[in-house]
Amino acid sequence: MSKIRFDSVRETFRREPMPVASRGKRSELFGVNVFNEMVMRESLSKEAYNSVMAAIEVGSRIDRKLADEIASAMKNWALSKGATHYTHWFQPLTGATAEKHDAFFEPISNAHAVEKFGGAQLVQQEPDASSFPHGGIRNTFEARGYTAWDPTSPAFIYGTTLCIPTVFVSYTGEALDNKTPLLRALQAVDQAATEVAKYFDKTVTKVIATLGWEQEYFLVDKALTSSRPDLVLAGRTLLGHSPAKGQQLDDHYFGSIPDRVLSYMRDLEQECMLLGIPVKTRHNEVAPNQFELAPIFEEANLAVDHNSLLMDVMDKIAAKHNFKVLFHEKPFAGINGSGKHNNWSLSTNTGVNLLSPGSTPMKNLQFLTFFINTIKAVHDHEELIRSAIASATNDHRLGANEAPPAIISVFIGSQLTKVLDELEDVSKGKLSPKEKTDLKLNVVGKIPEILLDNTDRNRTSPFAFTGNKFELRAVGSKANCAKPMTVLNSIVANQLIEFKKEVDHLIDKKGLKKDEAIFNVLREYIKASKKIRFEGDGYSDEWEKEAAKRGLSNNKTTPEALKASVSEKTMKLYESLGVMNAREVHARYEIELEEYVMKVQIEGRVLGDIARNHVIPTAIGYQNTLIENVRGLKEVFGSEFKDHAAEQMELIKSISGHIAGINSLVNKMTDERRAANKLGTAQEKAAAYCNKVLPYFEEIRYHCDKLELMVDDAQWPLTKYRELLFTR
Ligand code: ADP
Ligand code: MG
Repeated sequence: MSKIRFDSVRETFRREPMPVASRGKRSELFGVNVFNEMVMRESLSKEAYNSVMAAIEVGSRIDRKLADEIASAMKNWALSKGATHYTHWFQPLTGATAEKHDAFFEPISNAHAVEKFGGAQLVQQEPDASSFPHGGIRNTFEARGYTAWDPTSPAFIYGTTLCIPTVFVSYTGEALDNKTPLLRALQAVDQAATEVAKYFDKTVTKVIATLGWEQEYFLVDKALTSSRPDLVLAGRTLLGHSPAKGQQLDDHYFGSIPDRVLSYMRDLEQECMLLGIPVKTRHNEVAPNQFELAPIFEEANLAVDHNSLLMDVMDKIAAKHNFKVLFHEKPFAGINGSGKHNNWSLSTNTGVNLLSPGSTPMKNLQFLTFFINTIKAVHDHEELIRSAIASATNDHRLGANEAPPAIISVFIGSQLTKVLDELEDVSKGKLSPKEKTDLKLNVVGKIPEILLDNTDRNRTSPFAFTGNKFELRAVGSKANCAKPMTVLNSIVANQLIEFKKEVDHLIDKKGLKKDEAIFNVLREYIKASKKIRFEGDGYSDEWEKEAAKRGLSNNKTTPEALKASVSEKTMKLYESLGVMNAREVHARYEIELEEYVMKVQIEGRVLGDIARNHVIPTAIGYQNTLIENVRGLKEVFGSEFKDHAAEQMELIKSISGHIAGINSLVNKMTDERRAANKLGTAQEKAAAYCNKVLPYFEEIRYHCDKLELMVDDAQWPLTKYRELLFTR
C-alpha cells in the first residue's frame, strides 16, 4: 500500500489511516477488559452482587461461599476473553507494580486438565515476595507477606492475564505497600467529611475523595536512548551539553503532535479504553519531546491504581513503537522537568462536589467549610506534604537551581482571597441579624458569580485552588500518587474531625446557631492559616526570602524533607486516624532513605563509568589526532609550524586539563562514596550521599560537557541532547 503524503501536519492528523483496531467508537471499547459493575450484575447472583457492592461502599466482608461464586464468574469471564493466567496485582514500596502470574490450568490426571480459580485464590495469596522492601517489618521468619483482594478496584485483563488489585500486608497486618495506608486514609476522610457534610445535608452517608492526575513524560527514540548508559540505568542524562536550540522558542507547547508520537498515543489510548482508564486529553508540553496525558478524575484509590497501571502500559506500548518513555522528573538539565499534578476534591454520595460553590448561601457555606479546612490542614502539615513528594529524582525539580521551589504554599486567587478577608471580620460569638443578612447576601451569596469569571491562574503555585478542586502540582512524574494522596486525605480528615469538635462545642456549650458556630470557627482558621497563602510568583527569589520570614519549611533535599514523615506530629496524626502505626511509619522512612542512597549510588557509578570509559578515551583519541596533526604541520612548515597550529595546541592543552579534572573528581567522588557506605544509619548514609557525593556530579559533568564541545562530533560516543530532544 502506498503511503500518501500530506503537506500539512494538520491534514495528516485528520486523514492518517486509523489502525484497524481503533476503528469504531472509543465509548464502545471503554472498560471492555474490566470486571466492572455491569459484568458483575450480569454474571453474579443477586446475593453475590450485593455483597461486592457492600464491600465497595461500606467495606463489609465478603462471605467465603460468595467469594467462590465471584471467583468462578471472574474466571469464566476472563477465559471468554482469552486470559490464561491470573495474578494478584499490587504496589510494593518500590513504587512500581508487582505481579506473579499463575495459570488457571490445572491437570487433574495425566490425560485431563481443567481451568481452576476459586474464592481462596481470589481473596488471598502468599507471593514469594521476600525481596520487596519492608523496612524491617518482615525480618522474623514468621513474618510472611500476603496479598488480599481489594474489591474497591475492579479486576481487569491485561494481555492474557486476569489482574486482581490487592493490598500487600505482613502476617501481622502491617502495610507493605502503598495501597493499604491509602485505603485507610480514604476511609478516615470519608468518615470525617461525612460528619461535616451532614451539617448541610442530613442525607449524606458517604464522601469519596476524587483524584484526577495529569501525567507528564518525555518520549525519546529507543535506539538513541540505548546508546546512553545514563538513560538506561538512571533514567536521566548525567551529562550532555545543552543544544543550540532548547525550549526557548516555546514552539512545542500545544503544537501539533508529531505523527509517530500520535500513532503511539492512539495505541496507548486504545489500551487505556479497554482497561477502563478514562484518558481524555493529550498534548505537547513545554519542552521538546515532552507530552502530557490526563484522564477524567475518578475515586482516588481507583485513580491511583490507574496511574500505576498506565505507566506500565505506556512502557510496553512505547517499546512497540520504538520509543522509550522517560518518567524521570528531570531527564535533561536545562530543560523543563516533568510533574504529575494531582487534582483533588471530595464528593458526596448525593453527587455534590464539596469544593464546588453552589447556588445558595447554604451550599456556599458548605463549600467554604471544606475549602478553608483544606487550607488549614495544608498549613498545619506543609512539611508532611513536602515529605510525601520527596524522592532522589524529584529533588532535581524541587529546590534545585530550577523552579519550582520546595516550599509548599496555597494559591486561591484574588476573588476568594477577598471572601476570606471579609469572613475574617465576622464578629465573635452570636451574629446580629444584620450581619447575618449581610453575610448571606454579600459574601456567601456571591461566590458562584465571582468564580465564574475568576480567570486567576497561577501556574507557579504548588497547591492551587482551580475553581472546583485543589491541584497539588509538586508531585513528581515518576511518583506513585498513593503517597501524596495518603497524606492529603489524612490531614484533611484530621482537620475535619477537629472542626466538627469545635463547631459542636460552640453549639452545645455556647448556644450558638449552627451557621454562627461555623462562621466563628472558620474565622479563626482563616487567621491561623494565613501564612500558607501566597498569590505571587512561587518561582521567584523573593518568595524564598518571604517564605523563610513566614517560617514555612524549605526542605530542598530528600533526606531533609523525609524527617517530617517520622515527626511526633505525623506519628500522632497517623495513629489517631488509624492510617499507620509507628512501625509502619518508621519502616517507610528507612525504605525511602535506602532508596535514595541506592539511586545516588547508581548514578555515581554510572557517571564515573561514562566519564572514565567513554569520555576520557574518546578525548584521548581526538587529542592524539590533534597531536598527529601538529607533528605533520611541523614536518611541513618547520619552525613556522606554530603559526598554523595555534588552535590545535590550545585544544590539546584544554583536553588534558579536562581529563585531569575528570580523573581527580571521579576519584574524590569514589572516596566519598566509600566513606558514606561505612556509615551506620540509613539517615547518615543518605545525608552523606546527598551532601558529599552528589555535589561532584555537576563538577564532573562540567568537564565532560566541555569535552563534548571540543571533540570531533563523529567520534563522540554518546547521543547528544539535540538528537535526543529533536528526533521524532
Ligand atoms: P489543567 O490543570 O491542565 O487546566 P483541567 O482543569 O482540565 O486541567 O483538569 C485537570 C484534571 O483535573 C483532569 O484530570 C480532571 O479530570 C481533574 N478534575 C476535574 N474536576 C475534578 C474533581 N472534582 N476532583 C478531582 N479531579 C478533578
Ligand atoms: Mg494541571
